[in-house]
Amino acid sequence: MLEVNHLNAFYGPAQALFDVSLSVKAGEFVVLKGLNGAGKSTLLKSLMGLEVVSHGDIVYHAANGAQSLQNWPSHRRARAGLGYVAEDRRLFTGLTVRENLHIAAAPGAHEQEARVLDLFPVLKILLKRPASHMSGGEQQMLAIARTLMTRPRMLLLDEPCEGIAPVLVESIRDALMALKASGMPMLVAEQNHLLAASADRQVLLVAGKVSGS
Ligand code: ATP
Repeated sequence: MLEVNHLNAFYGPAQALFDVSLSVKAGEFVVLKGLNGAGKSTLLKSLMGLEVVSHGDIVYHAANGAQSLQNWPSHRRARAGLGYVAEDRRLFTGLTVRENLHIAAAPGAHEQEARVLDLFPVLKILLKRPASHMSGGEQQMLAIARTLMTRPRMLLLDEPCEGIAPVLVESIRDALMALKASGMPMLVAEQNHLLAASADRQVLLVAGKVSGS
């Protein structure tokens, strides 16, 4: 589904990723582990073409065959089906849950809303609540749910369980497992053991390099 070959990434003169190669197969759930600063966020940003300058080969099996993404702007990567949730969630905190869900929704939004709310039942009872009046875990669910409204073909999630109450971590894990059962490939940066234990495979980053899997 996604192959990364010999990726190097830079913030100005500082190199953050060194010759990173990894793959996520169709339907596979891969957790990207590593300490703070290991390069997990940088890898996800490189895949989305955001913020960081990267060199290397990123091959994505889009609907119309294998495509090299490296020179694509991020909006084209998103349109091709890469659904990304940043660590800081980027919600519209003044808008309600429902407004956040519909802000970037694809055609057929009402059917998709029903599917997404089945994955995150907690959101069903919060539809009219402003995102600013939600817990961190609820906001995280909303951020994932909003990305799902765009009908992605693959999910890239940056630390969805960081700083979240254990009961909501379980809810997020359950939602991701349901998505996996539906065939959604996922690359998830995460240090939480509960989530990592549910993955098909773990890839460890140490100081910007793949250390093992
Ligand atoms: P965390 O869990 O803390 O987010 P991470 O594994 O996601 O850690 P990155 O955020 O990818 O790690 O950071 C990798 C390296 O790149 C670190 O040395 C970090 O200091 C550096 N870095 C990250 N963002 C920037 C930036 N905007 N400008 C310069 N250096 C950066």
